[in-house]
Amino acid sequence: MGKFALADEALTQIWVCRRCKARNRAGVKKCRKCGSIYLRVKRKESRVKK
Ligand SMILES: [Zn+2]
Repeated sequence: MGKFALADEALTQIWVCRRCKARNRAGVKKCRKCGSIYLRVKRKESRVKK
């Protein structure tokens, strides 16, 4: 869990298209922009640079 619970929750409500990177609402079957079915949940935790 991140520091900001609300932001964390908001991010899980967004699915990102793997093809065109468009943001879609969670639960959609296809990307609204390109129609791709390859969607992923937006990362909950920001990447930590190492
Ligand atoms: Zn797309």
